[in-house]
Amino acid sequence: MKKLAILGSTGSIGKNCLAVARYLGEDALQIFALAAKSNIDLLEQQAKEFHPQLIAVYDADQALLLQKKLPHIPVLSGLEGLEAVATYQEANFVVSAMSGAVGLAPTLAAIQAKKDIGFANKEVLVAGGELVMSLVKKHGIEFIPIDSELTAIFQCLKQEPTKAVHRLLITASGGPFRNYTEEQLATVSVEQALNHPNYRMGPKVTIDSSTLMNKGLEMIEAHWLFGMPLENIEVIVHPQQIIHGMVEFVDNSILAHLCDPDMLVPIQYALTYPDRLPGSLAPFDFLKHGTLQFSLPDRQKFRCLNLAYEAIRQGGSLPCYMNAANEVLVHQFLNKKIPWNNIARTLETLMSAHPTRALNSLDDILAVDKMAREETLAF
Ligand code: MG
Repeated sequence: MKKLAILGSTGSIGKNCLAVARYLGEDALQIFALAAKSNIDLLEQQAKEFHPQLIAVYDADQALLLQKKLPHIPVLSGLEGLEAVATYQEANFVVSAMSGAVGLAPTLAAIQAKKDIGFANKEVLVAGGELVMSLVKKHGIEFIPIDSELTAIFQCLKQEPTKAVHRLLITASGGPFRNYTEEQLATVSVEQALNHPNYRMGPKVTIDSSTLMNKGLEMIEAHWLFGMPLENIEVIVHPQQIIHGMVEFVDNSILAHLCDPDMLVPIQYALTYPDRLPGSLAPFDFLKHGTLQFSLPDRQKFRCLNLAYEAIRQGGSLPCYMNAANEVLVHQFLNKKIPWNNIARTLETLMSAHPTRALNSLDDILAVDKMAREETLAF
């Protein structure tokens, strides 16, 4: 049985993890610890339903308020609180779904405490790929992707020797602006960008889907997670998002992973791995999905994808820098401070001015993340 600690239980992934726990019941999944940044109203509801033994709220004031409402459960705060949840003794599986650099230290703490991990937090591999994967190997833990594209490739790769693999293929919806002209892209609104064709997700990842940065980040994650060189990872636009990822082997055959585009499927797989338990969605309907289309991404219109390739090509601190700068720019767009076009444009300018350096520790990663945020805000 999996005994879960969830970092980021009030976000989109965290809520779906709890939906899976509710559906599968306590014989399959038990909730031992929950952590969130600040949404104590939802945390309170979750605590009353799932009875965790420990809670952490990153925001200290909110933690105090929640402790008053839940006097029988210890409510910790700050980074220490998050790390206490990540390393909680009774838990054997930690969901890393707290977005931003704040999720990185608790995830590293969980790996060092030999917890198996399901990760959805992009920073874990985009900013910390080299360090994180070396710790995963050193501590011999299971490190399971939750993201739909990564879990697809993970499942297709199972038990295949590396030398049999030719390419990893990551599919992309293409976002809501797939067929827009340059002129149309210059004036897109926040509301249009938040209207993802297939998934309902948090605002940050939805905007990243509209710029294709999300695919860039997934490509970087795949590079680290599967130890695959950049040249052997490709992004294919597939608007229906029925195929989530594929592996092409040296004999030119391909394994693909298909299911309805709903995060409950990859989340349940990660939470029950290596078992497969009955799912909550209706069986796949082939008659509803009679057409699957494929094309190549337009890298001129969607510059962010190229920037991600460039970041990993140069390596060192550049992917970490790009990730943090992008996050700030996406929030500026969401707050209607910059046009959509400026996300890629400003990111490119900032990245080309960044002197790449080696990242040897968590402190190095956090320092570059902080610098990127400050430089982007000052731009
Ligand atoms: Mg994805």
